[in-house]
Amino acid sequence: MSYERDRIARLSPYVPGEQPADGDIVKLNTNENPYPPSAAVMEAIGAVQAEQLRRYPPPQAKPFRDIAAKTHGLDPAQVIATNGGDELLRLAITVYCDAAPGTPESPGGGGGGIGVTEPTYSLYPVLAAIQGAPVTRVPLDDDWSLPDDFAARMISAGAKLVLVVNPHAPSGRLEAVDRLRDIAGELRGKAVLLIDEAYVDFAERDALSLVGESDLDNVILLRTLSKGYSLAGLRFGYGLAHADRIAALDKARDSYNTDALAQAAAVAALASRDQAAASWQLVRDERERVARQLRDMGWQVPDSQSNFLLASPNPGQDAVAASVFNSLKQRGIFVRYFDQDRLRDKLRITVGTPGQNDALLEAVSNL
Ligand SMILES: *Cc1c(COP(=O)(O)O)cnc(C)c1O
Repeated sequence: MSYERDRIARLSPYVPGEQPADGDIVKLNTNENPYPPSAAVMEAIGAVQAEQLRRYPPPQAKPFRDIAAKTHGLDPAQVIATNGGDELLRLAITVYCDAAPGTPESPGGGGGGIGVTEPTYSLYPVLAAIQGAPVTRVPLDDDWSLPDDFAARMISAGAKLVLVVNPHAPSGRLEAVDRLRDIAGELRGKAVLLIDEAYVDFAERDALSLVGESDLDNVILLRTLSKGYSLAGLRFGYGLAHADRIAALDKARDSYNTDALAQAAAVAALASRDQAAASWQLVRDERERVARQLRDMGWQVPDSQSNFLLASPNPGQDAVAASVFNSLKQRGIFVRYFDQDRLRDKLRITVGTPGQNDALLEAVSNL
């Protein structure tokens, strides 16, 4: 006997990367920033007064929206604060997608659902399944770029919310802003384009300019403090968009979706952005070093604009990647393996500190 709605009873939940309790693990499996958050963040948390906890937090996180707006050259009405970027995704699906009667997984059928690339962030289809919204999947080209007919296919499937990770996960490829602008233009009036910039801090450019363009009212950018600001444990993200889109998302939010401690820390994080930016540069330098050295050892490693590499020890040989994954794990080095089409011969390796990366490279050279 199950009391749940059918689609919840049948749901396969999101599978997070392992979070081992053992502190000796070299953890390169969940794309956390290997450097600590800025001292200002920790001070801000320590400075929170009992009175701030006794009272409800600012309901719309106004101090955060003000500093985020200033940081990005936007109006506070173009910013929404969320409990991690993941909450923004859930909000967007609630606000833009319909529950289709019948099959939640109906590929491309039904209309009113989400449109995603394949592969993509594996949380998207889970959130769609909870809502009951159909999922349209369009495979990326061989080089992980968006196919020419991407927007057309989303429109003909009736997708209402198109989700594009940029830089892409798990490949690390960065799509050109002009290409995203064209896609948003094609979708305009029919669907919202949510550009998931979870990893943009490690990239050479962002798509912020699209939010300012008056003829593009259908672009939402997702940002998070989890990766760039070393605050995955804090659960703080935000969305940037046309004020009308933000107002709609705001209606569907929990009344106090971000708490007083998190808001204080998030404000301090943006105020000390320079310190986070120093970590972004260290990660980029290490990313290039690790990529170079893996290539020297015969691995195929495409360029990445993120804080991870999608690397193949032996392209086309799924068993090799699986066995490298297990050997590394036995040596206390955790990376990510996706048992999924086009990814089974690859490992996703988060860029760590120089010491962690050396441990990885050393283990690989001794395989
Ligand atoms: C990490 C991540 C997010 C957001 O994560 P939060 O920790 O909830 O902020 C969103 N999209 C992608 C692709 C991610 O990797």
